[in-house]
Amino acid sequence: MAKYNDRISKKEKTLPNAPNGGNRENYIRISKTTLKYIIGVCCLFILLIVGTVIHYRQIFNTVSVEKTELETLRKNNDAQALQIEKLGKATVKLQADMERLNSLDVELRRIVNNEDTTTTSRAGLMRPSVKYIAQGEQKIQLDINDMNNVIYNLQMAVKAREESLVELKQELLMKQARLASKPSIWPTAGEVTSRFGWRNSPTGGGSDFHPGIDIAIDIGTPIVATADGVVVQSEWAGGYGNMVQIDHGNGIATLYGHTSQVLVHNGQIIKKGQVIAYSGNTGYSTGPHVHYEVRVNDTAVNPTSFLN
Ligand SMILES: [Zn+2]
Repeated sequence: MAKYNDRISKKEKTLPNAPNGGNRENYIRISKTTLKYIIGVCCLFILLIVGTVIHYRQIFNTVSVEKTELETLRKNNDAQALQIEKLGKATVKLQADMERLNSLDVELRRIVNNEDTTTTSRAGLMRPSVKYIAQGEQKIQLDINDMNNVIYNLQMAVKAREESLVELKQELLMKQARLASKPSIWPTAGEVTSRFGWRNSPTGGGSDFHPGIDIAIDIGTPIVATADGVVVQSEWAGGYGNMVQIDHGNGIATLYGHTSQVLVHNGQIIKKGQVIAYSGNTGYSTGPHVHYEVRVNDTAVNPTSFLN
């Protein structure tokens, strides 16, 4: 009886016209063509989605790269701005240094020329248009044009300062030469026994004009040139005995008489303070001494007027 019921139940499931209560499954009939269309549409839809995703991913990557590049550029720009600001500060400091050099130049000229003038100094320092903006600490804003102007002005100022210093060096050299050729030191250290001018003649009989000064020293004492110059006479010269004469230029000459030994020769270049002879008692002399004489344009003048 159970087998019979089971068989009946299977038959009812396969009956096409069986009522709903007897068959619980639904069937939809789709033609093969329709199925192909559906599959095709689905494939296109999937391709569209995949394409869209790839496209947006590319756009995202591009934007990401551009953002990174922009960030790098911004950092570089900040770093360059910082460098420009540092350069600006250094440039302003250079201007200050240059102004100090200018003041020093003026001061040196005042000392060298012993005058209260600045006309000979090539001041010529042009002030660049540097902008200062107070923002807590002093901030210097310079654009490229400002920087170019500042650098150009500094170049001009350095050139002017160099010319001025070269000029000053020439002036100093000339002054040094004038000082060196001025017989401003003593030829030896000793007691002055006879001064420049009229005196009672040491050889007896009336008075005579003494054209120099006599300095009493032991025989063999070194005698030095009192200025730079050239030896023009180094020989026996009558009453002067063994004599040395030095030409110092500008019409100035010095003579050293009564020496025991001459150490230089004609034409020899002599420096101030150089030993040129040893003292003696030669020529018309009443005792060991050096006769020191200064001539200006061949006229004897008082040597003490040159001595320091
Ligand atoms: Zn004398």
